Formats: sequence, C-alpha cells, structure tokens
Amino acid sequence: MKKEIILIESRDAAFRDLVLKTPVGEKLSTCMQCGICAGSCPVSHEMDYNPRQLVRMVQLGLKKEVLNSNTIWICTTCFSCSVRCPRGIRPTELMETLKPIAIAEGVKNKNERFDGVFSDVVRKNGRASEFLLISRYSLREPEMIKQAPFGLSLFSKGKLPMSIDKMENTRELDTIFKLGEKAEKKESREDNKEKNKETGTKIEKEEPETQETDK
Ligand code: SF4
Ligand code: SF4
Repeated sequence: MKKEIILIESRDAAFRDLVLKTPVGEKLSTCMQCGICAGSCPVSHEMDYNPRQLVRMVQLGLKKEVLNSNTIWICTTCFSCSVRCPRGIRPTELMETLKPIAIAEGVKNKNERFDGVFSDVVRKNGRASEFLLISRYSLREPEMIKQAPFGLSLFSKGKLPMSIDKMENTRELDTIFKLGEKAEKKESREDNKEKNKETGTKIEKEEPETQETDK
C-alpha cells in the first residue's frame, strides 16, 4: 500500500493523552521501537501500519492516521505481540482500546463493517455461522460481489454449509452484550465530562441509568 506523508500538523495531543490515560497507555511511552511485536504479528503484512508503527503513531498523537488505519480491525487478538514485548506493552489491548474510539469518532471502513456484522451474528445465534456472516456482509459491502464465483465454487463442493448453528439459549449472551454497551456509554459520558471540564462547557444533567431486567 502506498503510504501518504504524515505532516507534523496532524499531531493531536488530546488524542495521545486520552490513550495514555487508559490502562494500556501506562507503558506506551516506554516503547523502544525494537519491532519484536511487528516481527511476531502473523497478519502485519495485511496492515496499513504494523503494531510497532501504530504504537509510535499513538505516541505522536497521529489520531486521523491511527483511527483510519485498517490495523486495529485486522488484528486477530492472538496476543503474540503482547507476550513478547520486552517493555510489557500490550499492543493487543491497544487495538481493543482504539476500536471504540474509532467508532465514537464515526470512522467507517469495511473492516469496521465486518466487525459489526460478526458481533451481530454471534449476539443473535451464539455462534459464528459462515453462511450468515458471508451473506450479511455481502449485503453491506458491495466489493464482495467479486468474491461471488469463489463463494459459488465453495458452495458447489459442499464447503459452505447453509445450515445455521444456533445456541439454544442466547439470553445470557445478550445480557453480556448489553452490559458491554452500558459500560461503553458510561465511558463515553465520562470522556465528554472530561472534555467539557477542559473546555469549560456547561455540563447537562445526566439521565438516570435504566436497570437491566433479566426477563
Ligand atoms: S515489542 Fe514492545 S517495545 Fe518493541 S516495538 Fe513493539 S511495543 Fe515497542
Ligand atoms: S495481537 Fe494483533 S497485533 Fe498483536 S501479534 Fe496478534 S494479530 Fe498482530
């Protein structure tokens, strides 16, 4: 991939500070750019920026480049980088920290769309069905039409089952997703409060949290 030149003006100190304040940010500034994380990553060849570069970009506050890169979505959370980093930095958790920030900033790309479809299928069925994943993602990603001949050949050889494997009871799983959403909303409200404090904006009264009921 041809990379654009990054200008010093694109540095965003508020973004850098936001990430450094998260649990994974504690050690980020100690990165010595040894590249062990990048060398251990099984999918770095598919990434716009490898984990080593991403850590440096966060240190520099390159918000736009970090949040728009495919790196955070391509990561398979295999943890190879995190277990090998000599400085105890956890690039895996960094990717997971950056995802909600990218979503909150309205970043849209095909990797983010795939993540959304995957979560939705797992939430409703309790399992990842290949058939549902491919069919739903194809509806949201027009480029998937190019993969149609390959999909048909898999289907004709019986390698793409149309059966949907579903858990009997997905209620507990749904509760986990709801708790995650609630935590995300709370985190985002706290971030907004921090921003408002910094800018001196009047804080609106919060609506009380609704209690989840286990029906
Ligand atoms: S392995 Fe750790 S110290 Fe080395 S480049 Fe990656 S994050 Fe930085
Ligand atoms: S956790 Fe992600 S970034 Fe780290 S080695 Fe695995 S795929 Fe690469």
